[in-house]
Amino acid sequence: MVKKVVIVGGGAAGIDVLELLLRGKGAADAEELEITLLKKEHEGFFSMCGLPFALQGLYQIKDLDLFEPEFYRAQGIEFRTGTEVTRINLEERYVHLDSGEDLSYDELVIATGSRPFIPPIEGTDLEGVYTLNTREDGEKVDAALHAEETRNAVIIGAGWIGLQAAVAFSKRGITTRVVEKLPYPLPAILDADIASLVKKRLDKEITFMFGRTVRALRGARHVKSVLVDNEEFPADIVLISAGVRPNVDLARAAGIAIGESGGIVTDPALRVKKGNLYLANVYALGDCLEVIDAVTHHPRLSQLASTALIQARVVANNIRGISSSYGPCLSPTVATISGLQIGSVGVITEVARRYGIPLKSGSAVKYTRARFFPDRKLIVAKLLFEARSQRLIGAQLISEETVAERINELTLAIRAGITARDIWMRERCFDPSLTMVEDVLVDAALKACHL
Ligand SMILES: Cc1cc2nc3c(=O)[nH]c(=O)nc-3n(C[C@H](O)[C@H](O)[C@H](O)COP(=O)(O)OP(=O)(O)OC[C@H]3O[C@@H](n4cnc5c(N)ncnc54)[C@H](O)[C@@H]3O)c2cc1C
Repeated sequence: MVKKVVIVGGGAAGIDVLELLLRGKGAADAEELEITLLKKEHEGFFSMCGLPFALQGLYQIKDLDLFEPEFYRAQGIEFRTGTEVTRINLEERYVHLDSGEDLSYDELVIATGSRPFIPPIEGTDLEGVYTLNTREDGEKVDAALHAEETRNAVIIGAGWIGLQAAVAFSKRGITTRVVEKLPYPLPAILDADIASLVKKRLDKEITFMFGRTVRALRGARHVKSVLVDNEEFPADIVLISAGVRPNVDLARAAGIAIGESGGIVTDPALRVKKGNLYLANVYALGDCLEVIDAVTHHPRLSQLASTALIQARVVANNIRGISSSYGPCLSPTVATISGLQIGSVGVITEVARRYGIPLKSGSAVKYTRARFFPDRKLIVAKLLFEARSQRLIGAQLISEETVAERINELTLAIRAGITARDIWMRERCFDPSLTMVEDVLVDAALKACHL
């Protein structure tokens, strides 16, 4: 029997599921699948994560088109672009499209992603005010950056996308101010002490305005200035980068449960919930999903392409009849901002405090290679341990190299229940051109737990 699979959403999450289902196609024991993917945009598989670097001029936006719709159509997929699902009927198992058509399904995948949060202030509808959440957004921002009249920019929000964009703007000679309500950058992934080092390093390129609030955007038709508290600053371009919210309208209207974080609730198999029941044939994943934090065990969001990929494996397996579960989430994150690699995994201090987790934390500064190596870089590490068990529950790192690998190492360490003593007592490899004999992570663990 042919099973009809309908995927709503063609961002990273929807396309990951599609690609995994395609990979399983043709296996001797594979059920035959008829797959339809529906997305509002007109492109195929676009790498959103590459967008800030395209704005920085490292390559063109078109280079981020990884696969055209034709690529999937040629493999028998009904890949429908420019298509919006306006309603889901869970009882009769069909989705209603903006064209008026109804499409029936046996298995439904909801991967509707997220949309930018727009602060409720005057002037966000002026020309020259942008967000950065789609290919189209990227093209508009890129065009504005190339326009001769663009001299002054204001970015609202000092998260990593805002900061990566700020670097792109500054590189083009545009005077760039980043306004952030909180007193330091990257508040979602860093503690204040580590974030202040990031600020110090980026201060030369970007004018930061911390602890300040944008009150209004002003201009007749096109934005001309930004009111920050009581001060007005010129702005030919404004980028709103104040976080994203899960796109759950469609799911909510169908009666699917939405959690306290604002994302769709699922069981570990990533099947959605309606009333008291988890629906055997309807899955959700990606930015629209609520996850359970692996340290606090509380619900939250994890809006990362890397999170979506693991969830896609679970959804694709379950559709193919291979029982699979998604575990609690650690959200390892890394971002490069003007050559500085910034990484974080697990909880930050503020989150541990919020959930009453007693902490011991330690920070260390060392080099990435032996001190006599000319190419060595400074590296700063902060490790957070649960005070009683001394188990690792969070880590923050900044350096110009090795951050991503270390964040992956620390992610596994948290999952494995590694303690400060383990980090101190376990051998590590050494070559002076690549490492120090006593690593920064060992020093940070020592400082945290006075071993
Ligand atoms: C600039 C930028 C840089 C990023 N960099 C990184 C990074 O370096 N590393 C990382 O891990 N993550 C990064 N992310 C986050 C990552 O891109 C997202 O987590 C990921 O794209 C989420 O994928 P998604 O498919 O869940 O959602 P989305 O990409 O938002 O896709 C949602 C899809 O659903 C479709 N849709 C929604 N509603 C409907 C409807 N009613 N009918 C039909 N279709 C619908 C949309 O058209 C879209 O195709 C970045 C994000 C941005 C914006």
